Amino acid sequence: MTNLQSWILKGQEMIKDRERRILRAKKWKFDTVATHGLYDLQQAITQNNGSIMEPVYMSPAQAYTDSAEMEAALSYQMPTWCYSRIANPSTFFLEEVIALLETYGTGIEASGLSTSSGMSAIRTATDPFLVKDDSLPPPNIVSCAKVYGGTFQQFWVRRHEEQGVEVRWIHDPFDLNEWEAAIDDGTRYVFGEFPSNPSLSIFDIEKVAELAHLKNAPLIVDSTCASPALTRPLAYGADIVVHSASKVISTSGTSISGLLVARKNLISKVGCNEMKADFATWAKLWPYRDNGPSLHPMGAILTLNDLRTLRMRIVQMSKSALTVSKFLQSHSKVSMVSYPGLESFKGRDLANKYLKLVDSDEPMFGYMLMVEIKESDSDSSINTRKFFDGLDMIWRATDLGRVKTIATLNAISTHQQQGEEGRKLAGISPNAVRISIGIEDPQDIIADLDRALNNI
Ligand SMILES: *Cc1c(COP(=O)(O)O)cnc(C)c1O
Repeated sequence: MTNLQSWILKGQEMIKDRERRILRAKKWKFDTVATHGLYDLQQAITQNNGSIMEPVYMSPAQAYTDSAEMEAALSYQMPTWCYSRIANPSTFFLEEVIALLETYGTGIEASGLSTSSGMSAIRTATDPFLVKDDSLPPPNIVSCAKVYGGTFQQFWVRRHEEQGVEVRWIHDPFDLNEWEAAIDDGTRYVFGEFPSNPSLSIFDIEKVAELAHLKNAPLIVDSTCASPALTRPLAYGADIVVHSASKVISTSGTSISGLLVARKNLISKVGCNEMKADFATWAKLWPYRDNGPSLHPMGAILTLNDLRTLRMRIVQMSKSALTVSKFLQSHSKVSMVSYPGLESFKGRDLANKYLKLVDSDEPMFGYMLMVEIKESDSDSSINTRKFFDGLDMIWRATDLGRVKTIATLNAISTHQQQGEEGRKLAGISPNAVRISIGIEDPQDIIADLDRALNNI
């Protein structure tokens, strides 16, 4: 046996060992998977000086024993991390956990990839579907118009205005006919947020996935605002899930990071077989390597540390968000509250279908709500700003999913750049305030809101 072959054999052992750890984790409940992932005592003792926490590999590159190992590794014939722009043991721990959580309880095979931000996760998840293919009609993107401001800009300014890709915005995501009419043989991917930031719009993931698949297009869902503790879109037919892990996944607020999880053998009318077979691994080895949106290992471990406690935080934050949204709904200075847990919520049936606390049947609706303040006319924001500026404990910031409650005036912040027309499309009015509920005692949150409202 040559030296090269023995490294390839060693690589096969490493793959078997990883598969054993994955099978072990698949027998656990959600909280246990989030806490342990693939890192176990044996690995700690043999590789990491017994450290009970996953180590931060603050290193750009991996060294090899000899030329044969280098050859086996760099020709991808054995698992390797080689260079931190491609992979790193610390980011790997995070990627394995999110892939397990997004497929939790489903039997679906998927793999994960970490990125430097939520925006780069979206770019990494979508770009490969826009490849040149002259055998097809000109490419188009079909997306909910109610998406995060950065996503709106990425699709509209970067893809459409700069690169000429047609973007078809879905105005009413509850209208399946609108989706059906928009998706055609040129559609490269279909995109939606569940629920959307900040207007909390939702759509029927299962039905939209079916419509996308009829035209050989993947459905990509941004599930940042739900998190895998409340819904797992792959289970309903989505092909790729993306997250801004900067939000509730890393609630304590230490870094910007993104994640994507792609099902194996996803549906696409373009791309090579390797891409369709295992999108996240293919992306990591090829376009991600070339484009360079990798996550720093320190950010990966900080994110992983928060991810362990995701479910319990989601419980506390969701319960408080429901209490706060009921309080706001009954307040005389408030004209509208959008929260999937309220009876008045548009799409309540879909919210009940898709949003449930994992490992329980309890409907649960997340940490984010949108409130509109009463104004004398619809273009005004005088009262809204008085309320906003009068908040004391609650932070004024463009942030969400944090342990601390945060309020945002979206028309002048997250959705500033897309202009008035874009804001109308996204359903953002000048009197809309997004409130992301933290883990404080809800009575203290309500007291601050009440005082600021009564100050108007
Ligand atoms: C914040 C956010 C993003 C962008 O994520 P970053 O980590 O800030 O790059 C994308 N989608 C949604 C729904 C978000 O809330």
